[in-house]
Amino acid sequence: MKTKFSKRIELALADSQLRMNFRGAMDFLRNKRQLAFNDVEEWQALRKKGAAIRQDAIQRLPELLTQLEHQCQQNGIQVHWAEDGNEANKIILNIAQQHNAKQVIKGKSMATEEIELNDFLEKHEIDCIESDMGEYIVQLDNEKPSHIIMPAIHKNTAQITDLFEKKLGISTPSGDVDALIGVGRRILRERFEHADIGISGVNFAIADTGTLCLVENEGNGRLSTTAPPVHIALMGIEKVIPNIQVLPTLQRLLTRSATGQHITSYLNLISSPRKKGELDGPKEVHLVLLDNGRANISQDEKLQSTLACIRCGACMNHCPVYTRIGGHAYGSTYPGPIGQVVMPQIKGFKQEGELLDACSLNGACGEACPVEIDLPELIRTLRHRKQESSSTCWSKEVFIWFVWTKIHLHPWLYRQATLLMAVFRTLNLNYPKGWTRTRTMPKAAKMSLHRQVRERSKTKKKKENE
Ligand code: SF4
Repeated sequence: MKTKFSKRIELALADSQLRMNFRGAMDFLRNKRQLAFNDVEEWQALRKKGAAIRQDAIQRLPELLTQLEHQCQQNGIQVHWAEDGNEANKIILNIAQQHNAKQVIKGKSMATEEIELNDFLEKHEIDCIESDMGEYIVQLDNEKPSHIIMPAIHKNTAQITDLFEKKLGISTPSGDVDALIGVGRRILRERFEHADIGISGVNFAIADTGTLCLVENEGNGRLSTTAPPVHIALMGIEKVIPNIQVLPTLQRLLTRSATGQHITSYLNLISSPRKKGELDGPKEVHLVLLDNGRANISQDEKLQSTLACIRCGACMNHCPVYTRIGGHAYGSTYPGPIGQVVMPQIKGFKQEGELLDACSLNGACGEACPVEIDLPELIRTLRHRKQESSSTCWSKEVFIWFVWTKIHLHPWLYRQATLLMAVFRTLNLNYPKGWTRTRTMPKAAKMSLHRQVRERSKTKKKKENE
């Protein structure tokens, strides 16, 4: 029986427009990244540095988080701890209700996607609008982001033009990006002005100064965090870093890996609410620290490197599965290789374990990762754990690998098995069906490989003796 995941994959593969949009966007991003890292030695050195910074932060997570909390409080930022998504939502709702907030404007944040904040606030009659252009587009179309950096990457400009016309009643010349951006800007500017609360994510939080860093290109992050009277920042606890000295390395790795830029248009450093005598900035700043399974991951020696992720999206752009099926097919908050690693750990194998199957272990994601996360190894470990936790000890997969191992451990068995396969190789069994549904089964060679080698060496010897 086909699972929901495989049905979504089939739909994505059959959608030629979607595949074309992804192919174009992925090629563009990969080329830009390659140009940004054209000096291989520099890239490797920077990568090593970045990996060491992130590993160190993960090792010292409790200490750095305590320091961050203390320093933020000293600066006047109110700190809240949330064990899971539900608790984080309630904390944010509580702050909103205290301010009688009816309108919220959001900067781009995957953590808020993780806890499904928009739906939660809307259930409590608080209007929540996305201010990142990509997020705004997917929200308008009742969709979820399909990429962690570029949420609307699955749509082309013609589709967005149609969407604006249908949902906003505003027509723009087809494919005119500037006109589309102009529409978004006009609508969002007004929302910034009237928002009661601004919500953002956090790219990095500096422990020793209590500073929240937001990396962005559109200026919407700066407006979301400064225009409304209250700013709430939601961050996964792994985003903490020790000091500002390590920030340039991570910033360089993040922007180059994500969009191929040497630097982003905006780097916001938020250290306090508006101070006495200052003319702008929020009167209150709240920081919600989200665990949602991260503390457990940090305790697991084999999996803790998951938390080193700086959410650049490069692993997705290099994954042959993601680039063909796109983000929505995964049906999860985080798609692609990082999603395959994060989702089963925070939601469990029962709910998200199937994502682990969408990987050929080709290794491209691990090579692209700017902080040296060995994603293929993490996927292998999680597959193993998933199998161990499965109630059926003898799944089809286990049985196949059991037989494979036996055959490869015993030469005589190997010879018999290959002999049998050689005898039956010309039978058209149309198997395996999953593979042949979209491909033609290769024709079997007339002669087995072993026989070919034997024949060749016989001919060679014969020639030498002549
Ligand atoms: S796992 Fe590595 S490549 Fe993928 S998003 Fe995270 S930092 Fe980027």
